[in-house]
Amino acid sequence: MNTYSSQLEQLSRQGNLRSLPAVDAQGLSIVRDGNTMLNFSSNDYLGLADDTNLKKEFLQNLNSRNVRFSSTSSRLLTGNFPVYARLEKRLAELYKAEASLVFNSGYHANSGILPAVTDNRSLILADKLVHASIVDGIGLSKARCIRYRHNDYEQLERLVSESASQYEAIFIVTESIFSMDGDECDLPRLVALKKHYPNIYLYVDEAHAFGVRGQCGLGCAEEQDVIKEIDFLVGTFGKAAASVGAFVICSDEMKRYLVNKMRTLIFTTALPPVNLEWTLFIIDKIVDMQSHREHLEAIGHKVRQALNPLNGAIVSSSSHIVPFVLGETERTVQTALKLQHEGFYLLPVRPPTVPQGTSRLRISLSAGHTDTEIDQLIHTLTKISSGL
Ligand SMILES: *Cc1c(COP(=O)(O)O)cnc(C)c1O
Repeated sequence: MNTYSSQLEQLSRQGNLRSLPAVDAQGLSIVRDGNTMLNFSSNDYLGLADDTNLKKEFLQNLNSRNVRFSSTSSRLLTGNFPVYARLEKRLAELYKAEASLVFNSGYHANSGILPAVTDNRSLILADKLVHASIVDGIGLSKARCIRYRHNDYEQLERLVSESASQYEAIFIVTESIFSMDGDECDLPRLVALKKHYPNIYLYVDEAHAFGVRGQCGLGCAEEQDVIKEIDFLVGTFGKAAASVGAFVICSDEMKRYLVNKMRTLIFTTALPPVNLEWTLFIIDKIVDMQSHREHLEAIGHKVRQALNPLNGAIVSSSSHIVPFVLGETERTVQTALKLQHEGFYLLPVRPPTVPQGTSRLRISLSAGHTDTEIDQLIHTLTKISSGL
């Protein structure tokens, strides 16, 4: 037996084998094997991805000159269509920042920025639970890296004070809302730490907070009033913004540096102009969607309150991402299937995405979910978990 098939068999034995599901998302539902289920597994946090009115308005106002489905070139060659400048200007304005730079995806951003801005005189201190795209960026970097325990600021402070004088620069890397636990980073605390040292850069991934937090939906940094203190504020368009791509908010000098050094910006075809137009359109809508954000916050609170006392739940979440930790993979998979049978599309998240023994259902809420739907979900989860 070759090594690939034996590895697949091992994954299968452990209940960790993945395959691509045949699914069709429609509105806030998902159709799989002929069953229509309410979707609690997407990152469409504002419920905009299949909004008929928004799509209609966008298409009606779209200048046919801008309808291009490919840029057919890197941004440094001929792919830098004018809409890039309009989008980056708008983002910089919203964040009241010097500059922004748009990328093909959050994966491109995170795997490309750290290798570009660090060298062997740098130290990266990254939260234990940062996203795989950041882990890959660290892997490509020549810097030394230490992962600190999740949100353990005392350990982080110790690491900084021990190392500050030995490195030219220290990069503290975190997410604002964490993907799998739905809990949050204390950004003001990181800002306070940074201010004690001359050579610290703060790198914050707001993938799950962009569109969702702050008065204008700019993220946790807006909510906590620390935008100016963050050196690399990364956001993605593929989640709440219902589009594709990502951006960093940074200084003008850093933008020029990245354009020269960042391989995942330079050596890839630029985004299709029509997608950039849609992103620009949707961002201006999101700024005014405070009532969506309030509803999302309210249903998040409701689900967390309801799940807290349930058997097996470890809910550290403070957001619209609520993990329902069941521990063992097989049990988690079975529970997900039961929920799907009841019409709720929830997926098991298992190793290696989360640590061994912490398999979970990741409940991903959307502002499009109604109060009634949330009550039904809570009712069903309660019923199923009492039978576990
Ligand atoms: C989704 C995600 C990314 C990747 O963004 P894409 O645009 O989907 O490539 C990066 N960081 C975090 C924390 C994410 O959740």
